This record gives sequence, C-alpha cells and structure tokens, in this order.
Amino acid sequence: MATWRSLVFITNIVFLLNFTMETLGNDFQAFYFIQQWLPSYCNQRGTTCCYPPTGKGAADFTIYGLWPYNNYNGGSIQNCAGASYDVAPLKPIQSMLQKSWPSFTCPQIGRKFWLHEWNKHGTCSKSALDEMSYFEAALNLKNKINIFQALAKARIQPNNQFYTLDSINMAITRAIGFRASIFCNHDAQGNSQIWQIIYCVDKSGTKIINCPNSSAGQGGCSSTIKFPSY
Ligand code: 5GP
Repeated sequence: MATWRSLVFITNIVFLLNFTMETLGNDFQAFYFIQQWLPSYCNQRGTTCCYPPTGKGAADFTIYGLWPYNNYNGGSIQNCAGASYDVAPLKPIQSMLQKSWPSFTCPQIGRKFWLHEWNKHGTCSKSALDEMSYFEAALNLKNKINIFQALAKARIQPNNQFYTLDSINMAITRAIGFRASIFCNHDAQGNSQIWQIIYCVDKSGTKIINCPNSSAGQGGCSSTIKFPSY
C-alpha cells in the first residue's frame, strides 16, 4: 500500500514538474527586435538577391523580425499554435511594410516574409499582440530605433570601409540610449561585416529594455568590421 502511495506521489510530482517546465518554457517575457543590413545578406558567398517590384528603396537598416523570447534561457519561442496565412488585415499598412520590412531573396517572396515571421514567431506572442498590433509594433520600433541615422551621426557610412566594433557600438548606444547586440556575418571574400542589430523590447512591444545576460550577446564580429555599400 505504502509503495503504491509513493508511486502515485512521485507520478504527481513528475507531472507537476513537466507542467511547470512547459508552462514556464512557453511563456514569453519580452521580444528581440532584429534589424538587418540587407547588403550583408546579399553579398555572402553563394547568395544573390532580387529586389521587390517596388524597388530597392533608400539605404536603411530594415526589419528582420520581432521574436518573443523567455528569460529562462533567452531562447526565442517559435512555431506556436494558431499560424494563419491571412494577409488581408495587413492591407492598410502594406506600403509601410514594403518599405521597412522588405525581403531581397530570389525568387522574390514579398509579403510571404512577413507571414513567415508572423507564423514562426509572432503567433507565440499572441497573448499580448494580435496580428495587426504585432506588425504595427515592429514598424514603430523601426522608427524609434534608427540605426542608419545613429551611425551617420558618427560619420559611419555604408562605403565598404572598415570601422571598429567599438565605434559602432558607441555610436548606436549614444543615439538610442541602450546598448545593442551586433551580429556579423562574412562577405564572399571572408570579411567580417555588420549584419544584424538586436534590441530587447518589453512585452508590449514598445519599450526598449536591457537584454537578460544570458541572451542576445554579441555575435561573431571581428574588432573592425565592414559596412558594405548599399
Ligand atoms: P527565421 O525567422 O526563419 O529564423 O529566418 C528568416 C527566414 O526568412 C530565413 O529562412 C530566410 O531565408 C528567409 N528570408 C526571406 N527574406 C529574407 C531577407 O530579406 N533577409 C533574411 N535575413 N532572411 C530572409
């Protein structure tokens, strides 16, 4: 009898632990807001880019994604239930999305990039932002976090020249008021170059916050990095 009770007790504990881990694990605390420098996407070895029918647009950092994450391991939470392929609600903000959230892949995928991001990441923050609010939040953040302007103020321009990572970090921190995580990739010649700029944003998708220590970090940049021309 005592053995049976112990077994039930242990089973309950295991169930509770599993439940807690799952609930905590899937609960999102904040967002990573990621911007990208598309020339650094296009000039990688083996990559060619195609421009949208609306054109390449003016030189600027553009939105890559708004990714919910949890604090427990800083990992982004992905592929939650409730993916939808409805682009109709985005009509009123379509021109702004085309400008601020373009995709340069070949063949052109256009708005499928937004839907991919919404389905893979956005749906995991549905408890705070519905589809329209999610895209509006990303557009507002893009206006607030103007990386191109921050760098221009410090005379850091897309001219295929190399700049120290410190000078880039300093220019962005000075203009935005928070330190960013800068991620680099390599061009076809193997040069380390600026690629993604990441900020952490609160659950409402409006307020920049400090990232949890364990998360975004700095990624793969040399001490001097290239700023490829547009
Ligand atoms: P994910 O959100 O799945 O981690 O990454 C974005 C996906 O979108 C990648 O599979 C990438 O191939 C695709 N993609 C489409 N257009 C773009 C673009 O303009 N930039 C980047 N970085 N990824 C893009």
